Amino acid sequence: MEHILEINNLNKKFREFELKDLNIKMDKGYIMGFIGPNGAGKSTTIKLIMNLLKKDSGEIKVFGMDNIIHEKEIKNRIGFVMDESHFYEELTVTETKRIISPFYKDWDDKTFNKYLKGFGISPAKRIKELSKGMKMKLSLAIALSHNAQLLIMDEPTSGLDPIVRSELLEILADLIQDENKGVFFSTHITSDLDKIADYITFINEGRIIFSASKDDILEKYGLVKGAKEILDNETKQLFVGIKENKYGFEGLAKDKHEVKKILGEKAVVEKPSLDDIMLYFTRRTLNV
Ligand code: ADP
Ligand code: MG
Repeated sequence: MEHILEINNLNKKFREFELKDLNIKMDKGYIMGFIGPNGAGKSTTIKLIMNLLKKDSGEIKVFGMDNIIHEKEIKNRIGFVMDESHFYEELTVTETKRIISPFYKDWDDKTFNKYLKGFGISPAKRIKELSKGMKMKLSLAIALSHNAQLLIMDEPTSGLDPIVRSELLEILADLIQDENKGVFFSTHITSDLDKIADYITFINEGRIIFSASKDDILEKYGLVKGAKEILDNETKQLFVGIKENKYGFEGLAKDKHEVKKILGEKAVVEKPSLDDIMLYFTRRTLNV
């Protein structure tokens, strides 16, 4: 079966930043969270998928098609939410819709009006009168109103209050009931993913750290606590990173089963949160 989104060996270099050999594969029917700290390369990757930036090398396929050769057809089937508002500030919501909707073959006014109402956006308001959260909601309403098969969103939850954020997550969970659809969204807020993501792709400093199912990730890594005495040059290799304090240490194990085998009763192994995992990986990179 073709992947709904497939990125092979993607490279893009800026003066002071490089996306290096990115590989991501995502199947329809799932939600993939694209996570990483600020400056990791999330927006750059998404802009490359949307052909808003020119890649240096590599391949991007959406619905099995090259994203540049088939740009027009692909974009018709993608609901896209950018990290910043790109609407004309002087126009009203309705005028904005009139400009955008003709670009989509399957535009559905009824759905759009339903979302406006649900989000509490008045159609007569000018864009400049909308708060950041409201603009994000408008962007979402548009992305959800042309029967898109793939939603690609860049930090859609940032700037939203907790209630709207959880509403959005519900909408996504609902959308994905249709097994032909997929959602790919970036965030630096891991709690967005705890509930709804099936797959997690973690990027740091332009490189993919892992891209795997959330359950596998949470099953593989382990948060380990123990006495400092059990740390030596060999056992230290078991960890992504280690924090020591007066009483002992805490570390993220690369493979908790291996740690259990080697350290046995001497260590306490707990399930990490996605936050723990992200923090240990980014901390280590800072320390190098
Ligand atoms: P994220 O979305 O994960 O926060 P970005 O993809 O926006 O990260 O940025 C990654 C890095 O690339 C940052 O260091 C940023 O300054 C740099 N960058 C982004 N766009 C450009 C550009 N057009 N020219 C030069 N550097 C850029
Ligand atoms: Mg970004």
